[in-house]
Amino acid sequence: MADRYLSFTGTAPGRLLTRRLGLPQPAALQRWTPEQPSLKGDRLLLTAGKSDLGLTDADARTALGLDLTTAPSEKPAAVVLDATGVRDVETLAEVHAALHPVVRSVAESGRVVVLGAPLDPTDHHQAAVQQALEGFTRSLGKEIGRGRTVNLVRLTDAHAAESTLRFLLSPRSAYVSGQVIEVGSAPADVTAPHDPPHDPDRPLTGRTALVTGAARGIGEAVAETLARDGARVVVLDVPQAEQDARRVADRLGGTALALDITAPDAGTRIAAALPDGLDVLVHNAGITRDRRLVNMTAERWSSVLDVNLASVLRTTDALLESGTLRRGGRVVATASIAGLAGNAGQTNYGASKAGIVGLVRALAPRALAEHGVTVNAVAPGFVETKMTAAIPLFIREAGRRMNSLAQGGLPIDVAETTAWLADPGSSGVNGQVVRVCGQSLLGA
Ligand code: NAD
Repeated sequence: MADRYLSFTGTAPGRLLTRRLGLPQPAALQRWTPEQPSLKGDRLLLTAGKSDLGLTDADARTALGLDLTTAPSEKPAAVVLDATGVRDVETLAEVHAALHPVVRSVAESGRVVVLGAPLDPTDHHQAAVQQALEGFTRSLGKEIGRGRTVNLVRLTDAHAAESTLRFLLSPRSAYVSGQVIEVGSAPADVTAPHDPPHDPDRPLTGRTALVTGAARGIGEAVAETLARDGARVVVLDVPQAEQDARRVADRLGGTALALDITAPDAGTRIAAALPDGLDVLVHNAGITRDRRLVNMTAERWSSVLDVNLASVLRTTDALLESGTLRRGGRVVATASIAGLAGNAGQTNYGASKAGIVGLVRALAPRALAEHGVTVNAVAPGFVETKMTAAIPLFIREAGRRMNSLAQGGLPIDVAETTAWLADPGSSGVNGQVVRVCGQSLLGA
């Protein structure tokens, strides 16, 4: 469903009229294309406080490969503020001092990335000001406008966060804003023994990815993006969607697997279809059966819980225990902002998607320690798909505009976020729930 309002505000009369009426001014977002794979312009590095990351050293910046410069730039495409060394309120003023003069000049669809340190539970002053960065980031995200995004990365090691920074400083993260992402130090042994030499343009070369519910919508975009990044994809969907699944798989040079993910033996059947193992498991299949609780039948409740949560728990357990998911593997599950903020008419759906968050947070440390597999979730906001095209017009319009970017996301936005989490370089990203919602006003 085309966003006519976005097209209208892209015209001169549309811009004038909507500005006069004080209506939202969405900017056309710059997304990844083969012709324009990176943001155009400088990536300016600023520092607040005395940082241990070592980025003030030019050689260290070069080794990181992110093209960060400390030379002043008239119109930076991105600004990275290293605030990891901020430990008290006085030094927090340096965050203001660093960004205040440059924020206006950041290019349209540009990026602000704040680097923070993990909260130190033994130092409440450090914890207070590092937490302050979260409120700062989210507030700046809400006011910056013009398709620009603002995110906070908590890290201790810039190299472990390289894939994350590369993602956030690229057009691939167009619809990710107001997020706080923690990146730990990647355990040294979490690379798959079968890894071929790393190719940054095709990081998933030699890897196998299975995407559930990939015959259409977000799942189809995820399969496409993982294939673009070099993965051999398995397109799983219900037997009724087999034809569409085959069409997608054929286009991507992958294979289709007709299987209802709620089948009790789904895990065993996936393992049987993948005798050589699996590297990336994307739980994308999902359904809605909306009714207010007073009108919700037990069948509506259980069908949603079964597809969206129980099958995710069952198949993840089965594929980890059977060893089908190999070391260096990735699980990416799909939550939703409805699971974080709640939504009227969606007690079943909200419960199932909040369950995904619980699953990810609890399983992630254990899966990494015992199997060398990371477990993360994406939480889409309003994304333009058949699911959201079915929403009545006025609610749909509200859903589209109620975020800092004043527009809906596209399936590709969720797909790009999944591809970053699936990247072999993302071993330090574990147990995270990353919203792909344009910084929706719903939920924190
Ligand atoms: P969609 O309805 O367009 O696609 C879902 C796919 O999952 C379909 O191809 C369907 O056949 C498949 N599927 C359903 N039940 C299945 C089962 N039992 N076994 C195997 N496959 C099954 O939905 P979408 O909008 O692309 O959403 C994809 C995911 O993103 C879902 O988990 C959804 O809850 C989540 N999500 C979507 C939005 C949005 O705005 N579209 C927002 C938040 C979360």
